[in-house]
Amino acid sequence: MAPIKAVRGVRDILPAEVGRWQRVEATARRVFEAYGYREIRLPLFERTELFARGIGDETDIVKKEMYTFEDRSGDSLTLRPEATASVLRAYIEHGFHVQPKPVRLYTLGPMFRYKRPQAGRYRQFHQANVEALGETHPALDAEMIAMLVDFFRALGLADRLELHVNSIGDAGTRPAYLARLLEYLTPLKDRLCDECQARLARNPLRVLDCKTPSCQPIIEKAPSILDSLSAEASAHWDSVRRGLDALGIEYVVDHRLVRGLDYYVRTTFEVLTRELGAQNAVAGGGRYDGLIQRLEGPPDPGIGFAIGMERVVLLLGEHDRSAAPAALLIPLGEAALRRLMPIARSLRERGVNVELAYGERKLQRELEHANRLNVRYAVIVGDTELEHDQCVLRDMKTREQRSVGLDRVLLELAPSRADREGGASPG
Ligand code: AMP
Repeated sequence: MAPIKAVRGVRDILPAEVGRWQRVEATARRVFEAYGYREIRLPLFERTELFARGIGDETDIVKKEMYTFEDRSGDSLTLRPEATASVLRAYIEHGFHVQPKPVRLYTLGPMFRYKRPQAGRYRQFHQANVEALGETHPALDAEMIAMLVDFFRALGLADRLELHVNSIGDAGTRPAYLARLLEYLTPLKDRLCDECQARLARNPLRVLDCKTPSCQPIIEKAPSILDSLSAEASAHWDSVRRGLDALGIEYVVDHRLVRGLDYYVRTTFEVLTRELGAQNAVAGGGRYDGLIQRLEGPPDPGIGFAIGMERVVLLLGEHDRSAAPAALLIPLGEAALRRLMPIARSLRERGVNVELAYGERKLQRELEHANRLNVRYAVIVGDTELEHDQCVLRDMKTREQRSVGLDRVLLELAPSRADREGGASPG
């Protein structure tokens, strides 16, 4: 019998990668909390009905991508394909609407969608989700987008990403635009891809979102939704842009950005990369006024986004050193080992991640080991160093070495915050 493997589209996150995950998660928490967002932890499964109502019966997610099952009591349950519906369910269930508005929440965790797996696309993947509920002011939209940019900036990724923003108007005025769009697309139907031909009937807005090359010339000439905004939606859109400008945020106005889910109104935005092939969206979100009410809650508006964590981790790349210990401590002999053992312990106590060798191998072998561990420094103590209570601090990359007092090792190894979060180095 062959050994059992992980399910298709689902992957293990191995120790070599976990350092990057921890850094991404810590950065998300720090940035979101600086803006007043608080964490909420939600169940991984909900009643199927929640997603059918909250995401929309006609969406690809609900029609084709959900992991739905009956439990032993016959209830239909679904592994969550996204987090917004669950956040709103909790908002309503726990009466969050009486709290000062906007109520700002974030959550981190796995999502489940049955899609064809490919590079950067999985059936279990992770998101950082942020939602601000109960406020329509366009400054909130701008501030939320700025926070998303800050997250990527803190990871040193901002220069490799592009922010796209759009307004898709109000639910009330959208039918007029859809009529214009259909008028334009219907005569060209035969030249659209099969999927777009189907979308034409179900959800024509999604044609704008199509990535198939043959559809691009048609989509490029489509009427812009920005020309069909109501006076109110237009004022909101202008104000969001003024907010972004005031914050010095660079963005591209992309009238094709309609997003995959039914519930968006007004502001939509996405963060894109050119580095991950077809799976080019790293984060996306928008305003969803009306959705809370659709879930039988109060008439509170909302706006939110989701970051695809796998894609962020992929962008950080394998050269990232945060998974590695800061140093390998290399004693040359018993006496040096005994001197280094308590030093290793006190470094760890102070949050400096180190490994300690045992003094039995030749220096050359230990340096090879340090290289394989991908540590930044080797701290070497032989008899001569021991005599002066010193060590040789070797930078593994530059191979530069210098003598340092053992009482100063902590100062040398303690990482700055920029190092820990990778602010300085993009890769
Ligand atoms: P969505 O909820 O579809 O707006 O997705 C938000 C973000 O989650 C996207 O921009 C992607 O970065 C990420 N994402 C969505 N689906 C997947 C998937 N199947 N595998 C990996 N990341 C995904």
